[in-house]
Amino acid sequence: MFPTTIAGSLPRPDWLAEPEKLKGGWKLSGDELKAGQRRACEEWIRHQEAAGIDTLTDGEVYRTHFVHSFLEGIEGIDQNRKTLMGIRDNRYDLEVPTVTGKLTRPAPVFLEDFKYTRTLTDRKLKITLPGPMTICDTIADDFYGTRADMAMAFAEILNEEARELEAAGADVVQFDEPAFNVFMDDVNEWGIATLNRALAGLECTKAVHICYGYGIEENNRWKETLGEEWRQYEQIFPGLNRSDVDQVSLECASSHVPLSVMSHLADKQLMVGAVAVTPDHVESPEEVAATIREAMQYVDRERILPCTNCGMTPIPYHVALAKVQALTAGAELAAQQL
Ligand code: ZN
Repeated sequence: MFPTTIAGSLPRPDWLAEPEKLKGGWKLSGDELKAGQRRACEEWIRHQEAAGIDTLTDGEVYRTHFVHSFLEGIEGIDQNRKTLMGIRDNRYDLEVPTVTGKLTRPAPVFLEDFKYTRTLTDRKLKITLPGPMTICDTIADDFYGTRADMAMAFAEILNEEARELEAAGADVVQFDEPAFNVFMDDVNEWGIATLNRALAGLECTKAVHICYGYGIEENNRWKETLGEEWRQYEQIFPGLNRSDVDQVSLECASSHVPLSVMSHLADKQLMVGAVAVTPDHVESPEEVAATIREAMQYVDRERILPCTNCGMTPIPYHVALAKVQALTAGAELAAQQL
């Protein structure tokens, strides 16, 4: 009844990488690292299958960071020329690499790992990629002149990558755009256009993950300034509803997002985040079912896909596993209660 999926990342095991950190370093190297990533991926595939998740991800266990791991495969970026930049509208400062020339993708970035993941399961498989706007909010520009132009250049590269992943068997290609609730005017002026460019020509299911950010203290402090109700999505959902994406995510568990904002996405499927990125509380199936029922006040039931709120990298492995199991148990419970 309610097909379940995962927003993106799942925790990497502590023998593979520093746990509970967004950018925890690897504990292995060379061939051992590659073998370890594949083993960690297979374990998460089996966990998701056993839990009954319908559309699986590789848990992003091959990556250290959802943007930078992609950028490492792109030319035109000087990784050593660091620029101090305010990230997400100056929420925090970070030394970031700088674009110094025309962006090109000399070879596929995630294709080889994805092909391996594809051999592990017959279920539907999602691959996630960083969105063009969020990339441009995570890297400095000394070549293109405007963020909109640089984002369009990234969108063309991402589209090549996405088409190859689709040809290799991706059922869902998802772009992650957490910058979409920060620069609302830019989203409407050019953000959605660059997202559409990145999705062009794809025949698989096309998804976008947006969120208020999890796992770092700066995000928590920023969210405290947003007030009781986070209504920023109202400004971009009408535009997203006209976009080429099929599925849009929304964090619904333990968040300040009023679920009524989903009324602006009448033509899309909703990935309803029903488990939160919290280390200290595992939702019960009843809590998950209650979130799904609340979403049903605004979205037809056939457009609801229960999902995780966001990437689970920042929380302990066993907690994330329990949440994945609660997600499917709660989705089943909600279906029984119809
Ligand atoms: Zn997220």
